[in-house]
Amino acid sequence: MKFDTLAVHAGAQPDAETGAVTPPMHLSTTFVHAPDGHAPGGFHYIRSGHPTQDRLEQAMAALEGGAHAFAFGSGMAAIAAVLAGLPAGSAVLFPDDVYHGLRTLVQTWFPRWSLTAAYVDQSDIEAVRAAWTAQTRLLWLETPSNPRMKVADIAALATLAHERGAAVGVDNTFATPALQQPLALGADVVVHSATKYLGGHSDVQGGLVIVRDDAALAARVAAFRRDAGAVLSPFNAWLILRGLRTLSCRMERHGRNALAVARFLAGHARVTAVHFPGLPGHPGHALAKRQMRGDSGMLSIEIAGGREDALAVAGRLRLFVNATSLGGCESLVEHRASIEGADAIVPEGLLRLSIGVEDADDLIADLDQALAPR
Ligand SMILES: *Cc1c(COP(=O)(O)O)cnc(C)c1O
Repeated sequence: MKFDTLAVHAGAQPDAETGAVTPPMHLSTTFVHAPDGHAPGGFHYIRSGHPTQDRLEQAMAALEGGAHAFAFGSGMAAIAAVLAGLPAGSAVLFPDDVYHGLRTLVQTWFPRWSLTAAYVDQSDIEAVRAAWTAQTRLLWLETPSNPRMKVADIAALATLAHERGAAVGVDNTFATPALQQPLALGADVVVHSATKYLGGHSDVQGGLVIVRDDAALAARVAAFRRDAGAVLSPFNAWLILRGLRTLSCRMERHGRNALAVARFLAGHARVTAVHFPGLPGHPGHALAKRQMRGDSGMLSIEIAGGREDALAVAGRLRLFVNATSLGGCESLVEHRASIEGADAIVPEGLLRLSIGVEDADDLIADLDQALAPR
């Protein structure tokens, strides 16, 4: 099956008991055992797994092309499960503009876990080679990256890492499997914040880990989820599963709108930079065209004048909602430096836009009035 068909049908078999076409949501925390002790449905206790989550995991394994998928209570819980399984003494290579929540986790917990981190511009393969050490066990990619939408060459970096005996993890939150399939490009493990495009409606938090074929890695991720209790509720599993059914349509619209908005902004006198791989002038444009099926809805811009001007533009937008997060149907704007706080590494004049599924003309009109000189 092609991706768009799989997105609708993976994990969507009618309920065997009732014939319900829409998956039932099972809230039970415990499951009956037969007299001989075995569990007829394969479920024992909700922390180890439950039927609604099972369907979501089947669906995500199919959509990312992995052998194993594990759902978590958040994207951060999913990422932590992969990192927590590394042997003490390992080094991890992160993007220099790594998701700020992950930077915080690394700074706080890596010393206690006896892990070390290095940060490098992953759009520059020579820089990755130079940052490599004998202890590097995991290369962690975010592509497109946040907030400058830098594009890393997954296939080339996977080859480099595998030659050195390291694994490659990709945070695929910004692209989703509708646009990019890292496991097929050589990555070993993919993670998602399902809170974003997979859920798609800004009303559910969740995370996913999808493992290509490394059974030992999959077993560690599953054990960490069970032991740490980093689990997803049945309702949230159900909502994310429902989100997957429209993922392809939504991503198509997000990408089309984002390209229209990016073209408008690129021609605006008050915008000094537009970071969007769909524009031919972006350094990752050719690679994104090769590696991705289309554009994501994420872009960022820099406003002439810096912090005060950027905040003023964000404040004047009427349709764009001034809020963090991304991937919902509504367009969002945020001033990244304010969100990231004291250790922010983004320019003060940068605004990040999550382009929703509204009409692009209305989005452009809103930006036009917010950018108009006063
Ligand atoms: C939001 C996000 C996360 C963290 O996900 P949560 O669901 O908020 O825990 C991780 N990576 C990226 C790229 C994100 O955008």
